[in-house]
Amino acid sequence: MVTLEGKSVCGGIASGKIFMFTRDESIVKRTHVDSSEKETARFLDAKKKALAELDALYEKAVNEVGKSSAMIFQIHQMMLEDLDYIESIENIIADQMINAETAVAQTCDNFVQMFEAMDDSYMRERSADVKDVSERLIRILSGKSTNVLDSDTPVIIAADDLAPSETVQFDKDKILAFVTERGSSNSHTAILARMMNVPAVIGVNGLTEGGYGGMEAIVDGFAGRIYIDPDEKTAADMEAKLREANRQRELLQNFKGKESVTADGRRIELCANIGNVKDVSLALSNDAEGIGLFRSEFLYLEAEDYPTEDVQFAAYKEVLSKMANKRVVIRTLDIGADKQAEYFNMPHEENPAMGIRAIRICLERPEIFKTQLRALYRASVFGRLAIMFPMITSEWEVQKILEITEAVKAELDKDGIPYSGTVELGCMIETPAAAIISDVLAKYFDFFSIGTNDLTQYTLAADRQNPAIGRFCDAHHKAVLRLIKLVCDNAHNNNIWVGICGELGADQSLTELFLALGVDELSVTPSSILPIRKKVIETDVGKIHGDAVSNVDIVNSLL
Ligand code: PEP
Ligand code: MG
Repeated sequence: MVTLEGKSVCGGIASGKIFMFTRDESIVKRTHVDSSEKETARFLDAKKKALAELDALYEKAVNEVGKSSAMIFQIHQMMLEDLDYIESIENIIADQMINAETAVAQTCDNFVQMFEAMDDSYMRERSADVKDVSERLIRILSGKSTNVLDSDTPVIIAADDLAPSETVQFDKDKILAFVTERGSSNSHTAILARMMNVPAVIGVNGLTEGGYGGMEAIVDGFAGRIYIDPDEKTAADMEAKLREANRQRELLQNFKGKESVTADGRRIELCANIGNVKDVSLALSNDAEGIGLFRSEFLYLEAEDYPTEDVQFAAYKEVLSKMANKRVVIRTLDIGADKQAEYFNMPHEENPAMGIRAIRICLERPEIFKTQLRALYRASVFGRLAIMFPMITSEWEVQKILEITEAVKAELDKDGIPYSGTVELGCMIETPAAAIISDVLAKYFDFFSIGTNDLTQYTLAADRQNPAIGRFCDAHHKAVLRLIKLVCDNAHNNNIWVGICGELGADQSLTELFLALGVDELSVTPSSILPIRKKVIETDVGKIHGDAVSNVDIVNSLL
């Protein structure tokens, strides 16, 4: 048995086989070939296999995300059959007597250059598809297997690290646990693991070098440990720990249907963070009082091309209808930084977290923003919608956003399309700038939602993705907590409500402070709702600090 240590980002115990995820970073080597006929035949065979793979992907996508999103795989098939593309590869093989991999890579470069030089933005975006199709061919030619899970039995996913776009591609039913060699607890991959409520451990030294792929293992997500080829005693201990965890979970069920009110009468709304339509069932089964953050960018990350207005409308409508009269806060697109969708063709940035991300993309490319807003407003008649905007730093951004929102509503009016007149608009407070001018921003909005993950990284100048920076990225830092207090005060002085949707909202060591600050709503990963409700109900804020102590004193003593 080998024991590996890491840091827990989601509790739980899971046992099964390890699936070692490796990124396909194929470097193409140019080699001479003796027979161009044989090499061409090898290329044509790879093309046939690529077409078959795309067929299977199309079928899977039709079932999971519908026909219009699945169409991208048919477009890829058409590209593979394109005569100019094929001829170029065959000519390079014959003229230069070189291997098919190099011929595909050269053709890809030429086509990408050609597409990128086109005026039409749709055609320019096709360069990402040419790259995708060519990478598929090169992978097949070099004999590598696909990186998708094809086993029917669920597995433990192990990797050096996982980008959010890689994490979402896994079939959730086949994941027992995540373990990564790198990663950080506030990364979106860690957030996704918590959302799926699967045991997850990061920062596991030696994970990818031990040749553990295919071996049996037990992941202890509570202790942040992985046992490879576990002995009998460890297996028995883990089974006992799992039984106890299940017992605790059962006990929490008693808190379903109860109000989230402290013993001294302070109420807080406990809502769920979700990333897609399927997560709504998790929110409901954990008794969420609403959705406090729907990270709509996952609709974009799960797709191969921009989701159309209709595709988005269908998703928002489903979430709103399923949540009935409960509030659903949908955050507009927050692409950028670690959440990259290739088809956005974003230029390379040295510091993407401080670059063109989130609302900045929406303001730079309003056509994308308008499509999303139209879909949102169209869906608004099916429930209680609130829209919020990420990464705000300035008042002018807000004025521009409201201008675009009004224009979208005017277009809907013109088209005779109904929308709700009571959609709330909210501002995410996740930059120090937004927190500091929250008195100004409050005048424009119905609510604030504090994104503590980004607020922490920007306040402390500490990259939330970088595991090495761990202790410097401390969300309990007084600077972060004082900004939260400032935002709460500015919200309440302007009669708007304020919530917390970053990971700090689920930190039970701060629940009491949040209650004393008068935070109106906490939005957390679904599995954290009942534990926090228990904490809220069992807390008597006044009693802890003595009956005569006011909220102000409590806050001051905690900050
Ligand atoms: C945050 O920054 O706290 C937040 C909720 O948004 P995200 O984690 O998606 O950046
Ligand atoms: Mg954020």
